[in-house]
Amino acid sequence: MSTETSPAAYPSPAQLFSLDGQVAVVTGGGRGIGEGIARTFAAAGARVVVAARRTAEVEAVAASIVADGGEAIGVGCDVTDDAAVDALARTAIDAFGSLSIWVNNAGGSPARKPLTELSRDEWDQCTALNLTAVWVGIVTAAKYIETGSILNISSGAGTGPVPGSGHYGAAKAGVNSLTMTASAELAPRVRVNGIMPGAIPTEIFRTALGIRNDDDLAATEQAWNIPMGRFGTPLDIGTAALFLCSPAAGWVTGETWRIGGGAKPR
Ligand code: NAD
Repeated sequence: MSTETSPAAYPSPAQLFSLDGQVAVVTGGGRGIGEGIARTFAAAGARVVVAARRTAEVEAVAASIVADGGEAIGVGCDVTDDAAVDALARTAIDAFGSLSIWVNNAGGSPARKPLTELSRDEWDQCTALNLTAVWVGIVTAAKYIETGSILNISSGAGTGPVPGSGHYGAAKAGVNSLTMTASAELAPRVRVNGIMPGAIPTEIFRTALGIRNDDDLAATEQAWNIPMGRFGTPLDIGTAALFLCSPAAGWVTGETWRIGGGAKPR
């Protein structure tokens, strides 16, 4: 069989990156990276279900997408509650008729402690949100999506030592593993990929690093010496997420990509 693509088989970039007709659930979509992904997907034509624990935040994001001409609803949902996650998928289908994209984005861990000082509760809370809820999200998405894709938001913390955040790093390493196995088990029906964002100064980022104001933030940005010269934005992650969930990435599955402004020279 020829692997060449005839010129007639090249759709336009607008078609390749369009999410027209797709229905996406984005967990943790009330602010930060999840909000960036939800807004980018809506701008690309998806109908978006913005889900997070804080109902007022997701309703505000959804209302603002609608005000910009998109289609979205906000749904309050704690992703560590399995029944609520199943109800979230059913709400998406009731509202928009189908489900084709699921983004496991809700996550983060404010506790910064060496492994030896971490309490059992802190470990359990971190793994429940950052690992177990991703597995539940994958299982739920696989149950309700006929064909489509799943995107897991991981972290570079899962790929090396992270003194003070070993619990979070272990959970995110687990997410990278889940992405690989789920991609193999669900292909070719559902693609499964991941993104490891670099530093994006969201609420959880500021809390975890003890950043109190813009001066602290600017000093941290300078000290971190990111090759691209700045922290990332939710849009930087939203555009990478759009590629991975769009028809343009129809042959991409099982990948976890770092989107982080460049790797620092050693
Ligand atoms: P954020 O604090 O700005 O937003 C987190 C979102 O998740 C919020 O909408 C919050 O309501 C929601 N959330 C938290 N717990 C939840 C729960 N139990 N159920 C439902 N929703 C819940 O954080 P962010 O920086 O945008 O983080 C998003 C993802 O990106 C996380 O998985 C995080 O680990 C990952 N990440 C962030 C960075 C960064 O620099 N910001 C870097 C690497 C990875």
